[in-house]
Formats: sequence, C-alpha cells, structure tokens
Amino acid sequence: MQLENDRYVIGGVDLLKVGEQFGTPLYVYDGNKIIDQYNKLKQAFKKTDLKIKYACKANTNINILKLLHKQGSGLDTVSINEVRIGLLAGFAPEEILYTPNCVSFEEIKKAVELGVNINIDNISVLEHFGHEYQNKVPVCIRINPHVLAGGNSHIQTGHIDSKFGISIHQIRHVMRVVKANNINVVGLHMHTGSDILDAEVFTRAAELLFDVAIEFENLQYIDLGSGFKVGYRADDITTDIDRLGEILGERFDVFCKAYGRELELWFEPGKFLVSEAGYFLVQVNVVKQTVSTVFAGVDSGQNHLIRPMMYDAYHHITNISNPNGVQRIYSIVGYICETDTFGYDRKLNEVHEGDILAMHNAGAYGFTMSSNYNARVRPAEVLILDGKAQLIRERETLDDLLKNQIEVL
Ligand SMILES: *Cc1c(COP(=O)(O)O)cnc(C)c1O
Repeated sequence: MQLENDRYVIGGVDLLKVGEQFGTPLYVYDGNKIIDQYNKLKQAFKKTDLKIKYACKANTNINILKLLHKQGSGLDTVSINEVRIGLLAGFAPEEILYTPNCVSFEEIKKAVELGVNINIDNISVLEHFGHEYQNKVPVCIRINPHVLAGGNSHIQTGHIDSKFGISIHQIRHVMRVVKANNINVVGLHMHTGSDILDAEVFTRAAELLFDVAIEFENLQYIDLGSGFKVGYRADDITTDIDRLGEILGERFDVFCKAYGRELELWFEPGKFLVSEAGYFLVQVNVVKQTVSTVFAGVDSGQNHLIRPMMYDAYHHITNISNPNGVQRIYSIVGYICETDTFGYDRKLNEVHEGDILAMHNAGAYGFTMSSNYNARVRPAEVLILDGKAQLIRERETLDDLLKNQIEVL
C-alpha cells in the first residue's frame, strides 16, 4: 500500500474505503503484488527449468489459488483437503505435490487415487508404499540435510530433533528400501524451514542434496522447498532472490551436467508469494489509558492473527484513518480474554476510537491459522485486483458456530 493524496491505496483502491465498505475485521489481499512476487522468482531463475509450487497452507482461499495457477504455478499441499481444494481451483493432479508428515497411510492412498505427486518423509512409510505400489506410482523422498538456518525454533525444520524428512545420514537405508521394493523415485526434496537469509547457506544445503541425488537414476526434479525470508520490519534483511537465482541456478546447471540430464528445479514458497500482499484491517474499539500504557483495543485478537502471540512475529501497524496525525506510543491489543498483544510500544499516528488500523504482512498464515475462540466468527476476505475490490469470503455468522453442534439435552 502507498500514500497518495493523504489516502492509503492499493492499486488505486482506497484501503480505508474498503474497510468501511466490507467492515472489520477484514483480510485484504493485493492480487497484483502476488503476481509480482511470482514473476520475480521466475525471473531470477530464468535460465533454469523452474517450477514454482505455491505452499498453500499459507493461504488457501480458492481465488488466491486460481490467481497463482493462472500465472503458471503448481501447488504444494500438506493435507488431503488442501489437495482437494487445489483440484477444485483447477490445478491438474500432476501440478500438485502432496508433502504430508505423520498422516495415516489411508490418507496417502487417497492422494495416490487423486493422481498427485507424493512426497514421503519416513522410511517405514516408504517401505509400506513400496509394498503397496512397487514401481507403479512414482515418489519423491523428503531428505533432512540438517542445515540449521535462521528463524524461530517453531519454524526450523532442519535440526537433528526435527520430525520432518528422512535424515541424510540414513540414505544407505533408503537406497536398500528403494531397491528391495523396486520403488520409482522421481524427485528428491528438502525444506529446511523458514527464514533462510543467505544464498550461500541455501546453496550449501542444496549441494548436500545434489550429492545424494546422483545415486538415483530416474529423477525428474529436485525440490528445494522454501525458506525465503520476507521483510516484516522496515530494516529486515530479506533473501536476495536474484543472487540466489544466479548462484544456485549455476550450481544446479553443473549438477544437471554431472547427472547427465536436464532436471526441473522446484521451489515451494508460501510466505514469499502472499505475505506482503496481505493487510489485516481492524477497528479501534477503545483507547485505554492505564498508569503505564496507552492501549488501543481493537475488534480482533489472537483468534484472527495469531503470529504475534505464537511466534513473537512483528507485524507492522499503520493507522490508515489518520495518516497525518501526530505520532504517539500505543500497545495494540485484542478483545480476547487472553493477553493477545499485536504490538508493544508502537509509534502510530494518533489513534481515536473508531479508527481503522492495518496490520502488514498478513497474507500468509493469517486467515489459515484463525479460529473461533471466544465464539468469535472469522473475518471476511477481500481481493483487490486490477483496481477492483471484491469479497472473496463472507464473514462467518452465529449459525457457522453452531452448525456442527448436536443438542442432546
Ligand atoms: C510450510 C511449508 C512451505 C512454505 O514455507 P514458507 O516459509 O511459507 O515459504 C514449503 N514447503 C513445505 C513442505 C512446508 O511445510
């Protein structure tokens, strides 16, 4: 969003008006920003046969999926319902990768029936898969290269205690299982966790995977997961995509020559594609002055955007109702009966009761992690595309809270 003639606008659309028209709390997505991010990644790897698989757990609104599909994106899914939503959005089964962790074998069988690519991250499951399908269903194997990189401990997946992937040190065992069951391995995968800052670190992890990949004869793709860091604070360092494209693209090319064949390079960005495109609009119900603090209490809470409370995540906050007001210090808190603080000691343009605040970087893991705690309904969602704001999810109602309850008394 940007300031134009004292109004915050997204692609020419006045954000405050969107908040007033559709009501708050409200998730608003900038469709053109999503397209820009997709093209940026594509452009950085223009010399590589790159396939982008949007990790849709970040945001599963079907319109976001359709928008990315239109750009040429595939899909990374972690549950059978994400697979089904992807198919409903128009993705072909072969464009979808299913990367489950600790799901039942029944669920994996359903994904096989739906015809999507299967990613396996456990030796016992690989064995089971081999017994069931031999070489009739191709698979990808998720490897944990144990590369530690940035971020909060909740989002690191590469460490030795991680439940994700098959340890790279178990690769001999994997090879035995593959040979014994005649399993057709067409992909190798790693996803070391979010917030990798450094193109060199990323490339080093990839090298470990390439070393292993040489031993598999039928590969069609190498999937390097995600880990792209996006800026939450103004001075945050972000992944330099162009540099990554240059360094890793070249290294991948060398690998393909050694392998003897051109392979596809896959990435599965979630945040990178949709985080910055999203704004969460809330209205200030009360300004509360205590002995030590001025609180701005808003019509939302951890039930709608839990990242600040769960990951200690920083979401920048702007008072879009008062762009020129004098700046004062506020703690922005929710209405839930927990300590649900969106931001401590933030400088905001003077806040009045009734003002609308915009929380930035709300496009990823915002709505998808929301809940009905305190019997609050989940927010509506709006997509701004080509100068038009459209409702893409209705606000829930009391009926939604009750619809699966069975009265037995
Ligand atoms: C969550 C996840 C991603 C996306 O991570 P981001 O940090 O949102 O880019 C990619 N791949 C897998 C397997 C994941 O679980």
